[in-house]
This record gives sequence, structure tokens and C-alpha cells, in this order.
Amino acid sequence: QHSPPYIGRFAPSPTGPLHLGSLYTALASYLDARRHRGLWLLRIDDLDTPRNAPGASDAILRCLSRFELHWDGSVYYQSRQQESYALAFEQLRQQQWIYACRCSRKDLAGIPVYPGRCREAGFPLDGSSAWRLRVSDVSIRFHDALQGWIDENPALEHGDFIVRRKDGIVAYQFAVVIDDFRQRVSHVVRGADLLDSTTRQRYLQTLLGYPEPAYMHLPVLVDPLGNKLSKQTLAAPVDDTRPAYTLFLLLQLLRQNPPLCLRKAPVAEQLAWGVAHWRPQTLEKIRTMHTSEQQD
Ligand code: GLU
Repeated sequence: QHSPPYIGRFAPSPTGPLHLGSLYTALASYLDARRHRGLWLLRIDDLDTPRNAPGASDAILRCLSRFELHWDGSVYYQSRQQESYALAFEQLRQQQWIYACRCSRKDLAGIPVYPGRCREAGFPLDGSSAWRLRVSDVSIRFHDALQGWIDENPALEHGDFIVRRKDGIVAYQFAVVIDDFRQRVSHVVRGADLLDSTTRQRYLQTLLGYPEPAYMHLPVLVDPLGNKLSKQTLAAPVDDTRPAYTLFLLLQLLRQNPPLCLRKAPVAEQLAWGVAHWRPQTLEKIRTMHTSEQQD
């Protein structure tokens, strides 16, 4: 029996060096891809130029190499895909799915769901306004390998959302859909903090006629106070001076129950063990994971 090829990816934003939480996600998506004998691609989500940190992309590549998380093919940079985004915008524009919005941040302060104020205004779709997508009142259902069935109506949760910002920057929700399609990604493995984005992405995939990838949203690593480890909370960059030590810790945090004798093993050996024994089901229904939850 012939199953479609597995293509996975890791898509960090170069807003700083990798921290433990981002490496956790990288490792899980790597193990899942290799366990399926699939490809593992690396994409640098560098569209939000004001947030990019100088040197961060290279630091990310170096860190992944240190942990011997070798990706397939060349690195894919979102900043070099402007033409594909323009083509997809054109497709949606012709079908009248996008419109220009002139609401200011102040106009919308405290309003969680965009009320559609500019929907019928007919402002020109040019560089002086944000572009929004019309979101129909439909419920979207998808299956997540760890979180189970998710059923959400994006019109009620988010309303018409921005696909291109007023400053001309292509929005994450839009770019990710185009790129996953162009890279033929079949399996999206990422943090549960992005679960809330998936319905919007599924909605866009439907409008553009793209296939639905399989999803797996992993627990997000949190500090003892329950805050997500992120660059915003200034989580420390991964200590890559002792990669084998950190890798073992990550296998524990992924609840893979690595044998203690693996603790001192070289990185390549730990990874091979991780691929051979990968069981993501141990993370079922967990949305957050404390960094102190390693087993001893
Ligand atoms: N670049 C996004 C982030 O760092 C992840 C994109 C994705 O996995 O869909 O949070």
C-alpha cells in the first residue's frame, strides 16, 4: 500500500536565539518526521522584519546543527516568497474575499472580534490600508493528533482577520498557509499556543483549494510560574555547550522515558533512540508542561 510522503517542518521566527521551548518543538517535529521516514524541512519565518533580531537566523541554524537536527534541502526563507504571496492575494482578490480596512488600532480597542466595519466600504486595496479576509459563519472541524477533535467557528472567534498589515507585511496566518502548501507540508507539528490559529489557517486553505495537513499541537513549556518560555519573557538561549545533556532533558520533557544509560550518550545516539522509540501519545491532551517535570 502506498501512503503519501510525510513532509514535516520546523518554522522558527528569527526574533532571537532558540530557547528551550523552541528546541523542544524542533525536536518533536524532527522525531515525528524521522519516525515516519519523512522529510524534515526548515523554514525561517522572517516576515515580521521589525521583530527580526540581527544574526538570529544564523544562530538558529547553528544551534540546530549543534544538536544534529539536520534538515532536508535548503533553508526556506519567507522573506524571499513575496511573489507567491502576491499571487495568492490576487486569487482571493478576484473572488472578492479580501477588502481594505481603514480602522485604526484605537477604533478597535477592546473589541475582540472585528465587527466588519469596513467590509462593504469599498476602499481601494492598496498599500495605505490593512487587508482583511471575509470570514463566513461556518464551523470548522479538524483533528489534532494530541488534542483530539477541535470544532470552532472563526467568524465568532476572530471575525474578518488581517492577511496583510497596513505596513505591507504579510500576516503570519496568511503566509504560513501559502508556505506549507508550497513546501508540500503534510504534517504540522508545533506548539499548542498556535492551536488557536489553526482554524483560521484551515479556513484559508479551504478558500484557496489547498489540502488539509495533519496537525499535532504539542504542550508548551512553561516556567515555574506558568508563563510560556518565549523570547518575550526573555527565556535564556539554549545552552549548546553540553548538547547531550540538554537533549536528554528534552527527551524527558517530551515524556519519552529515555533510559538513564542514555544520559551520557552522544547526541547522535540519543537521537537514534528518540526516533526508534517516539511515542507522542504520552503528551495527549496536555497544553502546558512545566520545565521541572523531568523524570529522575
Ligand atoms: N514561526 C512561528 C513561531 O515561531 C511558528 C509557525 C508555525 O509553526 O506555524 O511561533
